[in-house]
Amino acid sequence: MTVPFADLHAQYLSIKGDIDAAIADVIASSAYIRGPHVERFEEEFAAAVDRPHCVSCGNGTDALYIAMHALGVKPGDEVITTAHSWISTSETISQAGAVPVFVDTLPDSFTIDPDQIAAKITPRTVGIIPVHLYGQPADMDPIMEIASRHNLWVIEDCAQAHLARYKGRQVGTFGAAATFSFYPGKNLGAMGDAGAIVTADTALAERMAMFARHGGLRKGDHRIEGINSRLDGLQAAILSVKLRHLPDWTRARQRLAATYLEKLAHLSGLRLPQVMPDREHVWHLFVVRSEQRDALKAHLEAKGVQTVINYPVALPFLPAYARFAHKPEDFPVAHANQSRILSLPIFAEMTDSQMDRVVAAIASHG
Ligand SMILES: *Cc1c(COP(=O)(O)O)cnc(C)c1O
Repeated sequence: MTVPFADLHAQYLSIKGDIDAAIADVIASSAYIRGPHVERFEEEFAAAVDRPHCVSCGNGTDALYIAMHALGVKPGDEVITTAHSWISTSETISQAGAVPVFVDTLPDSFTIDPDQIAAKITPRTVGIIPVHLYGQPADMDPIMEIASRHNLWVIEDCAQAHLARYKGRQVGTFGAAATFSFYPGKNLGAMGDAGAIVTADTALAERMAMFARHGGLRKGDHRIEGINSRLDGLQAAILSVKLRHLPDWTRARQRLAATYLEKLAHLSGLRLPQVMPDREHVWHLFVVRSEQRDALKAHLEAKGVQTVINYPVALPFLPAYARFAHKPEDFPVAHANQSRILSLPIFAEMTDSQMDRVVAAIASHG
């Protein structure tokens, strides 16, 4: 029996009655696009992450694009972001018309190094997108300080960090806007694509909603040209059910991470993830580092343990960014990490025996 990297079916079975009823309710009312389920989820999610406004949209990638568009990003602008993330973070900067400017990550938190941001700021810089990667908040105080000193906006990419906290405060409450993904495998996942943006800025929320809905908040009243990016009723109803369980699921992930940290601590050759001071990590991913990463991955595979590499090529080195001709020495931390990182199975429904099997498999790697 293999230990899966994640088990979406186990999660579904644990709440099957409520999910099936929510889906039946949407079908009974034919409220497939917008409608009461979407409005209810927007309100519930805004409350859950401590922000007055939630604008739902099609996915976490659109969320970034919509936020940047509404903040007025235009051709010639530059946006600073981290060197190690999922490509959504940087591709949307280009789609918004700007140029992604990468900053290396910190060696132990995998998040953007605030000390290296200032050197990348030019007269064309308009904003910063930190990513709370793997579920650990980026170091927000110095990031917000630099942003305010240079009059830059901040969009927090919270796709992997629902309910994470920095100095007691929820991620998503620091920047002008914060984007979330509800991709099925995320800590809060839909049964399809879904995303949202939260903000405290009422005018910004309105511009984002307008842009996501063909440029108008009322049918036929197109103030601007927009796009079509919306959360559908089925996903909203499913997300409302799952949101109620998110705090429990987050605690389960935190318990599993604590178990990994304890049981793997004695293994030399394995660098365990660190929780930085004053952060509440929500463990979207549990990422270890090994000089023998590829051999370890193959060994675990042979022992029936599924692992993933998030992400095998740091953003500056992707073929998609060949035009910048970035060199490994420009981003030494991200470059070193990309060949060492390995994500172990972690999901709320993971059993003790699955955990034991992963730990034993790792320990048996010579
Ligand atoms: C998942 C993810 C996104 C994009 O979300 P989608 O819903 O898949 O479009 C953006 N940023 C990060 C860091 C992600 O992990």
